[in-house]
Amino acid sequence: MPNIVVVGAGVSGLTSAYLLSKESANTITVVAKHMPGDYDIEYTSPWAGANVLPMATQSSSRWERQTWPELKRLAEEVPEAGIHKMKSRVYRREKDLEKLRSGEYAFDGLFQEDPWYKSLFEDFRELSKDELPSGVASGVEFTSVCINTMLYLPWLVGKCRANGVVFKRGVLQHISEAGAWGHAGSSTKKVDVVINTTGLMASRLGGVVDQDVIPVRGQIVVVRNEAPYMVTKSGTDDAEGDVFYIMMRAAGGGTILGGTYQKGQWESQADPNTAMRIMKRAVEMVPELADGKGVQGLDVIRHGVGLRPYRNGGVRLEKEKIDGTWVVHNYGHAGWGYQGSYGCAERVVELVDEAQNQPRL
Ligand code: FAD
Repeated sequence: MPNIVVVGAGVSGLTSAYLLSKESANTITVVAKHMPGDYDIEYTSPWAGANVLPMATQSSSRWERQTWPELKRLAEEVPEAGIHKMKSRVYRREKDLEKLRSGEYAFDGLFQEDPWYKSLFEDFRELSKDELPSGVASGVEFTSVCINTMLYLPWLVGKCRANGVVFKRGVLQHISEAGAWGHAGSSTKKVDVVINTTGLMASRLGGVVDQDVIPVRGQIVVVRNEAPYMVTKSGTDDAEGDVFYIMMRAAGGGTILGGTYQKGQWESQADPNTAMRIMKRAVEMVPELADGKGVQGLDVIRHGVGLRPYRNGGVRLEKEKIDGTWVVHNYGHAGWGYQGSYGCAERVVELVDEAQNQPRL
């Protein structure tokens, strides 16, 4: 009976715990400072949109490729998961395409011409010139999904609990403290594997302190208005770090207007000027969002800020022995933690299996 402790209850920790719990021999405890229901600047998952817009390049697309079929299945067959299907448009501006072709462009696979993900979505198509708004050189459309994180994260907790996973609140100063959190009458039994899904806080957790992990600040506005489709654009002419996207969450979760992509910024409070720019861009691109009434026609639920757990060099998905115990790391998903969640969690399961088959030192 492998005794496993998952540190973290964001989408990475919950999906890892869920897939591990499908193996009935595993005894699993999730310990976390923040749980679904909390809103905190150290807890990214509740703030995400969250939709599926592939960001990987062809060579790094494994996690998103593996995740899409499951999120699509949940949207089609499991209404209680809080995910729905929605058309999505991706617009490319000429000036961004020039930067993309010359390799200067920061965004990865999403805005590439002839992208790898065209084979992922059944109804993927290039938009014709007369379907494009002014200032947009080209674009694509496909049916994607949007996740209501307020429903989906508790749903994952429920799936885990149904499989016997135990949830505990705890704050670890050092990853080795996870060894004290094993459950099921096994307090004297040694923890076999620890899963580190601490997101941005992997930058501060003792025994890990990963200096490559930095925040990428995302400010959003959540409104009651309904969006006819999801849309994103390759750039804006506003402040540096401003980006543009709109997505509508399933089951009355509100419409997310985004946003910003500000590397290295930790500020937790929403900036009113940024919020105004976000709302203006949204009603300019999709006037029907506010019945043509402009920003005045938007009905704001709340302003929010989340910090994407970006990692220089990409996600950390590997195992390491720390103080004699195997630790499987699964953190650093930046802006794709949901859309890569199942692929990454499947890798966690493989790494736990590998760790179990290796002789103890
Ligand atoms: P987190 O959700 O931050 O969870 C970390 C967990 O670890 C928490 O439970 C925390 O309490 C716990 N923890 C940390 N340190 C400790 C400690 N020392 N002791 C105990 N517990 C600890 N992704 C998409 O796929 N699609 C999107 O559309 C999308 N949109 C986004 C929009 C915004 C504005 C933002 C901010 C993010 C967006 N993302 C999106 C990215 C996505 O939200 C993240 O990649 C994902 O939530 C990261 O999840 P995580 O579980 O790794 O980390």
